[in-house]
Amino acid sequence: MKFTEFGLDERLLEGIDSMGYENATPVQEQVIVPILQGKDIIASAQTGTGKTAAFLLPVINKIITEPHDAHNINAVIIVPTRELAVQIAQSMEGLSYFTDVSSIAVYGGGDGTSFTTEKKALSSGVDMVICTPGRMIAHLNMGYVKMQAVKYLILDEADRMLDMGFYDDIMKIISFLPKQRQNLLFSATMPMKMREMARKILHQPLEINIAISKPPEQIVQEAFVVYEPQKIPLVKEILRKKDFQSVIVFCSKKVNVKQLSNELKRSKFSIEEIHSDLEQDKREQVLQDFRNKKLKILVATDILSRGIDIEDIDLVINYDVPNDGEDYVHRIGRTARAASEGTAYTFITEKEQQKFGQIEELLGHPVTKAAVPEQFGPTPAYNPRAGRGAPRGGGRNHPPRGGGGGGKKYAGRNPKR
Ligand code: AMP
Repeated sequence: MKFTEFGLDERLLEGIDSMGYENATPVQEQVIVPILQGKDIIASAQTGTGKTAAFLLPVINKIITEPHDAHNINAVIIVPTRELAVQIAQSMEGLSYFTDVSSIAVYGGGDGTSFTTEKKALSSGVDMVICTPGRMIAHLNMGYVKMQAVKYLILDEADRMLDMGFYDDIMKIISFLPKQRQNLLFSATMPMKMREMARKILHQPLEINIAISKPPEQIVQEAFVVYEPQKIPLVKEILRKKDFQSVIVFCSKKVNVKQLSNELKRSKFSIEEIHSDLEQDKREQVLQDFRNKKLKILVATDILSRGIDIEDIDLVINYDVPNDGEDYVHRIGRTARAASEGTAYTFITEKEQQKFGQIEELLGHPVTKAAVPEQFGPTPAYNPRAGRGAPRGGGRNHPPRGGGGGGKKYAGRNPKR
């Protein structure tokens, strides 16, 4: 689903564009509209699913399009750690860049200056506050925090907050809020204790479950960290090294499918391509040959990743990193069906490292990095966290702010932009 379909304000769409997002993730698809409609939400969604933008976008949209008190706090986001507070503040900065919504991250551990900056914002009014519980209580105890007009409360990684013993602090912060407000709770897991807390805080919540499926355990997953020009030779090397009987190579773009399949044909591999430019008859013929094992190698776009049941594929190669964890699981799920063993290799170029890091987060473990054969020369280092959270370029003629800094920033009201 495209972001343009949610009816979000044009200024937000510009922010989304500058972050480089095109399609909404599943959690975004499910929660943005109900939040815009004013519903309370309890959602089980892990980090890496896009849950931050899933709550930031509709809340920012409501703040900029509905009447609100500019001299009070409008939204409070409570999170377990300062790292998460910083990360959310960075997403907030990117997404709200073309709006005049102000925000501040309030968390412990800083020096006296940051406490003073926080105090100034909390007492004079700031649209959105992203806070860790202890630090917020420290401010609340001083009596200057303008909580009387808060309309939105968001609890992020709520299960972690309970594990860290923040229940009383959360309830204390909530005791300062008006009763009439919209509540959103996000949590990776839903233990009993969480449900009890949810019952106290939420009002007739819509329950949403974005559990991502895990790939079958018998799939051997490995990744090659490479430069773009090394990909085609590496596919050939892998295919030559072992006599795989049934292989699918997934590419994210048709042009890559065409280029790779031309190269493989030139090297006399038994290969055909499948993508949306192909006539339906031809597609079916190719699939038929592949199913019957007349054809060994299929190079395809994601049209093949879901729902097509082909038995006994022994190797899946992700020539490009899939867009998200769900696509990854679907693609590699083509192999090792019905308890047989299968192998899934993923090629990661420098540009794709961050995306693959997010997939690993969703899987809950890193994927083994295989050694690229020596004759391929040097390969990039794997550092998926570099540049994380920073808005990506490409936002038409409005380059987004740097964004990579500490994230702790009081934008103030009507910032000059
Ligand atoms: P989160 O689960 O909120 O921690 O988000 C995980 C990562 O996905 C962050 O780096 C986001 O910037 C990124 N992200 C969120 N939504 C999208 C989207 N619709 N398309 C691409 N990337 C996204």
